[in-house]
Amino acid sequence: MEITSAPIRNVLTRTSGYLASVTSHSLQPYRGCSLGNSLCGIGCYVQHNRYLTRGRPWGSFLEARENAADSYRRNYPRERRWAERNREAFSIFLSSSTEPFPPQEARFRITGQILEEMLVHPPDELVLQTHRPQVADHLDVLRDLGDRCRLRVHISIETDRERLPGLPAHGSPVEERFEAARKLSRAGVATVITVSPLLPIRAPDAFFERIAQCADAVVLDHFIGGDGSTDGGRTRATALPAAMAQVDPDSVELGYLDRMVTVAERHLPGRVGVHIEGFSGRYRS
Ligand code: SF4
Repeated sequence: MEITSAPIRNVLTRTSGYLASVTSHSLQPYRGCSLGNSLCGIGCYVQHNRYLTRGRPWGSFLEARENAADSYRRNYPRERRWAERNREAFSIFLSSSTEPFPPQEARFRITGQILEEMLVHPPDELVLQTHRPQVADHLDVLRDLGDRCRLRVHISIETDRERLPGLPAHGSPVEERFEAARKLSRAGVATVITVSPLLPIRAPDAFFERIAQCADAVVLDHFIGGDGSTDGGRTRATALPAAMAQVDPDSVELGYLDRMVTVAERHLPGRVGVHIEGFSGRYRS
């Protein structure tokens, strides 16, 4: 993997498209993703962004935005003013096209520095989206940040299975992500499990019951309707659907999402979000 670092002029990107209904801005501490060769990278929709990849294979590069915390501080007043004029609030999705806590975060500390900067200059709302349990290493900062803004930590756990046939392992074990959710939740940090994209679940009742015990809410989304194409075509062009179908042929149909939502609602009544509404923090009553 090619690992580089480079400065960025403005790390706060004004959102457009589907993400505009979730937050006013997105923030990518890295360009590319070092989890691109793990299970989540197989169907990852970001790999189809040619502007971002510049033709490079997904998972082959990571660029650390070395001045991201400085850039956040410098651009904060202007972007806050813009959000207050044009959106409901100054809200940030961190991150939508990279993992904020890749293994290389231990060396670069880009996301850690941004979170500390946010203690001084908080947004109105922060959605911290991650696949990695290392988010719990920042528990103290997150607890303080939760006092300064509306914070939700979204931890992706797409299935209760550690492996799907023929695909690489998860970037982080399912068990470790559950443990991180438990730690954050116990510390009073608003924690949401995002089951997205929904993968075949071995024991749905046990899975959602476990989520109910360690999270404030759950969000489910299917690759059909959730991958940025109208019919799941982007994901169908990858190896993910075939592996899902091998485990459970029903799981590649949209009806599977409906069935799993029904199970989730049994265990988390009023705390289940679906599709983009769920990512926005709107749950079904
Ligand atoms: S961690 Fe997120 S951005 Fe990275 S490969 Fe997985 S899904 Fe894509």
